[in-house]
Amino acid sequence: MTGAPETDIDEADLVVGQPTDHVAGPKAVAIALKRAATQMGPARATRALTALNQVDGFDCQGCAWPDPEHRHKAEFCENGAKAVAEEATGRLIGAEFFAAHPLESLRTRTDHWLGQQGRVAEPMVLRPGESHYTPITWDDAFALIGEELRGLASPDEAIFYTSGKTSNEAAFCYQLFARAFGTNNLPDCSNMCHESTSVALGETIGIGKGSVSLEDVHTAELIVVAGQNPGTNHPRMLSALEQAKRNGARIVSINPLREAGLVRFKNPQHPRGVVGRGTVLADLHVPVRVNGDLALFRGIAARLLEWDALDRAFIDTHTHGFDEYAELLRAVDWAELERGSGLSVEQITEVAEFFRDSKATVLCWAMGLTQHRNSVAVIAEVVNLALLQGNIGKPGAGLCPVRGHSNVQGDRTMGIWERPPAAFLDALAAEFGIEPPREHGYSTVEAIAALRDDRARVFIGMGGNFVAAAPDTVATEAAMARADLTVHVSTKLNRSHVVTGRTALILPALGRSERDLTGGREQRVTVEDSMSAVHASRGPLTPASPHLRSEVDIVCSIAEATLGDDSSLPWSQFRADYSRIRQSIGRVVPGAAAYAEKVDVPGGFVMPHPPRDTRTFPTALGKAVFTASPVEILDVPEGRLLLQTLRSHDQFNTTIYGLDDRYRGVKGGRRVIFVHPDDVTALGFADGDLVDLTSEWLDGSERSAPSFRIVSYQQPRGCAAAYYPETNPLVPLESVALGSQTPTSKSVIIRLTAAADQTPLVQRWP
Ligand code: SF4
Repeated sequence: MTGAPETDIDEADLVVGQPTDHVAGPKAVAIALKRAATQMGPARATRALTALNQVDGFDCQGCAWPDPEHRHKAEFCENGAKAVAEEATGRLIGAEFFAAHPLESLRTRTDHWLGQQGRVAEPMVLRPGESHYTPITWDDAFALIGEELRGLASPDEAIFYTSGKTSNEAAFCYQLFARAFGTNNLPDCSNMCHESTSVALGETIGIGKGSVSLEDVHTAELIVVAGQNPGTNHPRMLSALEQAKRNGARIVSINPLREAGLVRFKNPQHPRGVVGRGTVLADLHVPVRVNGDLALFRGIAARLLEWDALDRAFIDTHTHGFDEYAELLRAVDWAELERGSGLSVEQITEVAEFFRDSKATVLCWAMGLTQHRNSVAVIAEVVNLALLQGNIGKPGAGLCPVRGHSNVQGDRTMGIWERPPAAFLDALAAEFGIEPPREHGYSTVEAIAALRDDRARVFIGMGGNFVAAAPDTVATEAAMARADLTVHVSTKLNRSHVVTGRTALILPALGRSERDLTGGREQRVTVEDSMSAVHASRGPLTPASPHLRSEVDIVCSIAEATLGDDSSLPWSQFRADYSRIRQSIGRVVPGAAAYAEKVDVPGGFVMPHPPRDTRTFPTALGKAVFTASPVEILDVPEGRLLLQTLRSHDQFNTTIYGLDDRYRGVKGGRRVIFVHPDDVTALGFADGDLVDLTSEWLDGSERSAPSFRIVSYQQPRGCAAAYYPETNPLVPLESVALGSQTPTSKSVIIRLTAAADQTPLVQRWP
């Protein structure tokens, strides 16, 4: 037990300085080690960090960047160490803490404060009308859930949500339980992040996953990083980019913000990163306007066609729709592309020259492309660019969507999907003798609407912080409060535990860093990273509390308590031996044959990817498909700004590690909005002013978020940026990407008004 939890922070302490032009270095190492030692104590921290991302160790709970073949002794980044420290903290909260903190007071606290209180030590229940959580036994908790679920008028009144930290074994059991119960209501965090990627890739290349390996990144001639900030969100990616640079690659960063992570990397694994200036990464930064990417990519493609810098053989052999697309390229309106991208024709041409001069290009992207109304079309345009030059299914080239959560791709592979393919359900039926439901279930935003409209009564969340991650915070919280039962399988306290249904349960799970001795044997779990590499993970640490249970055990127990003993499903065998789950995975999950055997191989294996492996495209046409989307430009009215929501450096999704964003020069606070200096003046404000944000939507509706401090910050005119979840209240539930239903959190039209309350804010929930 180390260090008392921090109290709430007064934003009056907020200090804003200059952004940095480099990342990592000795400072990152110092911060990582200090966080680890403070939270875990030196011995536990050493055990954890020396096992992190090692072949026989455990997988980082942070992002989904793959592990290199040759791992360093310290194979983690600053934010990976923070993720472990958050989970493996020695701080523990139980009956005493909850007796001292009524729900009402917990609701006034920030997610940062809630998270800093420590691990939840035992199962807790909030009964109808009560003001405090109280302890409950595991068996009573499972029985309560079983009774509520069986009491529903329809299985579709239940929602089974998954956050991307859930292991493959737990995810497979969870989807089996939900389908045996009778519903496909399996929304997940991917709905809110890379769903636009999965939809666009599914339609264009036939599989919703990236097509590159780490080796491709290392050997690429050109690497394009669009709408992504790896310095904070995927830091070990910088090591791969550095290696590529040393191999002669060129790197282009496409982002409204010039993020320090793509300017210069001081790799602490190398002397040049410790005492030297490190490695300059991006050869070109392209300050595209928020949501201006499609216009930019379209311009690049038009130049490539003009210069005939194409792989005609690939196009002729492997693609469909080139002629129609080429017609569109010949007819581009350059003035429209300039207006849409916020870039000049010269700037667009300069980027196109990088593509022209590369024989092997890797295209990387993240949320900056996926959370807009036209995101599916934007990502289809990225695919168009790759197809024009045959940059798929060859060394040093391909599509690289980088996932933000460690196992979000694995969960989807295991069947966590509200729109499961028929073939998967057929295999499930054959393996378990059940009749899985065929009707598609609720996505994340549909699940919230179902709770709001009383079409859903029970919400079960595997990990995550649903109400903080979801858009339209006020509406989402009101919807959650209408539920009869909310259940969260979690490690630590967060906002979703204090915005509850009539009855609420917190079921404290083992963390990935902890030893899992379920069934009286040491159990391993498996995960899949952004590059489809599957490997085992085994936690070395003594669990924080003797009352914790594994995710697999919890899911199997809920299933038994709900479906009853007459269920022929092997919950007890699964619980006793996870390899039994892996055997079923091998027979049900496409591409996972011999799964149990393959994960026993040190380092694991890579799931098949026909476009990458054999240039085979499992689309309806059996070809890769060019997409001829219109260039839609989001026009912003005079006196308004186009806001993108983003993470600070001291944050992982909705987990707030701390209140600094040192690469952007922010210290001690989070309620800031980054605005171009000339826009600050043009809007009649000054740097440091406190403003309220109001979003304006086509249907005339508005949403507001109070008290943000203006920070003058270089970016394209008319654009702005601020952190989520503080800005999630600005995005209506209905504002989603076409085709993927991903919330449009990256393009929000706002107006600024002088804050109604000018007193500096004490950090509070939004
Ligand atoms: S890059 Fe991602 S997976 Fe790797 S240590 Fe950092 S947070 Fe963890």
